[in-house]
Amino acid sequence: MARIIDAPLTGSEGSGCDPRAVHGAWGSLDAARKRGLSYSAEVKAETDALYEKVKHVVPAVEWPAYAPLIAAINTIKRQKNAVILAHNYMTSEIFHCVGDFRGDSLQLAREAAQTDAAVIVQAGVHFMAETSKVLAPEKTVLIPDLRAGCSLAASITGADVRLIKERFPGVPVVTYVNTSADVKAESDVCCTSSNAAAVVEWAAREWNSDRVILLPDEYLAKNVAAQTGIKIIAWHGRCEVHERFTVADIEELRAAYPGVVILAHPECPPDVMAAADFAGSTAALQDYVLEKRPAKVVLLTECSMSDNVAAAAPEVDFVRPCNLCPHMKRITLEGIYDALVEMKHEVTIPEDVRVRAKQAIQRMLDLPKEKPRAFKVGMPETAVELI
Ligand code: SF4
Repeated sequence: MARIIDAPLTGSEGSGCDPRAVHGAWGSLDAARKRGLSYSAEVKAETDALYEKVKHVVPAVEWPAYAPLIAAINTIKRQKNAVILAHNYMTSEIFHCVGDFRGDSLQLAREAAQTDAAVIVQAGVHFMAETSKVLAPEKTVLIPDLRAGCSLAASITGADVRLIKERFPGVPVVTYVNTSADVKAESDVCCTSSNAAAVVEWAAREWNSDRVILLPDEYLAKNVAAQTGIKIIAWHGRCEVHERFTVADIEELRAAYPGVVILAHPECPPDVMAAADFAGSTAALQDYVLEKRPAKVVLLTECSMSDNVAAAAPEVDFVRPCNLCPHMKRITLEGIYDALVEMKHEVTIPEDVRVRAKQAIQRMLDLPKEKPRAFKVGMPETAVELI
């Protein structure tokens, strides 16, 4: 079964894990005290309504540990005209209590482009903050922890993409948003897991090509190839969270929880996608749960996703054999607080890189807006050209 994946971030492991335990209430309490913040009557009055949103995952006894930082962050946001973009993989006290805009990479990129705030704090990983800066260069973009990376983004460089383009001239390069600005700058168009199949189909038509280069996630590339029938040239990057789910996990879950509905993210291996009941981006998985309201469900994705969707679907029973993303879990309330107070960890991008990266992202944003596209399950694995 899936396991926590980064030793330094111990605190929870395996089935039924609690992502908040990575940092924990005591960590937040200690951090609040060190910053002179306490659970006063004013803080209680200000945050009681927020607690209602997270009481399904935060025990009442722990709330006084989180509330002082939450109240302080929300005050500073107002003072500094700042917004927090919170990814679906943030822990619930961040996602629901200080996040102003919430969603997957595509939703957050659209918000970054549209917000009129002066400061954006990216409650997510570094490539997401870069995407915000690319789209909103006049704004100050902060990342609460510089160590919040991504195994996919780390798997490939702009120099790699230049070599790939030399090897396959004329073949369009579609790049997953989970990459650095350097990589995006070498790409023709970006995609997310919500629109990957649609973007690949568009690129094949637009470049009049029977092949598309889709970087850097090997499994996403194979899953898109199965959906579209387009020949895909792929890289060997993997998401260290989703690659760990296996068909054996699914079989164990079906045996232990008869009737459970299993939803998979397309960064999972193709055999896992084939064995699931439904597959799609985090936005598509959330839509499925909120529309279908299955009695019992498993989301084969990062741990916090279930906690965050559960707030809007209290009657759904979430089985949680999840994997933590150690990079996402670098983002904490005190990290957000410190970033805002000290205006630290500002993300900058050389202007020539930003302009070229923006073209690739903007092409994606300019495509007709559609609902996150589900991936068909039960598909046979489709070969890709792996480089
Ligand atoms: S969950 Fe996977 S793709 Fe997302 S940030 Fe973590 S390592 Fe990267």
